[in-house]
Amino acid sequence: MKTDCIFCKIIAGQLPTKPYTEYDDILVIRDIAPKAPTHLLIMPKKHIHDIASVEAGDMPLVARMITVAQEIAQDNDKGKKTDFRLMINNGAGAGQSVFHLHMHFLAGKQMSE
Ligand code: AMP
Repeated sequence: MKTDCIFCKIIAGQLPTKPYTEYDDILVIRDIAPKAPTHLLIMPKKHIHDIASVEAGDMPLVARMITVAQEIAQDNDKGKKTDFRLMINNGAGAGQSVFHLHMHFLAGKQMSE
């Protein structure tokens, strides 16, 4: 845990957030400023600064994030396959504002570009 990291605080239960779903290694929460009807954040419980900081040993965890996204997609449309977008921002210049690795899961509207 990184003590000045907002997502580490959420993971540690120090900030009031109702998880969307939780696993031993991954927490999924609703984005506080949703950009789509379904906008979730899939984050490893382990603090990793960004996708560029991912080490070889973390790769199974990154793969797990994608597996979790697949599971959410199934739940999201009551078992029917749905369209969704996965997005990871790396660095402030690319729009990253929270420096704890997370994947945006967006669904429920027609996406442009
Ligand atoms: P990024 O800009 O890619 O780093 O994404 C960070 C996301 O975290 C943004 O979409 C924010 O709206 C979201 N966010 C920041 N603080 C919270 C919070 N306390 N609970 C839920 N989502 C948050």
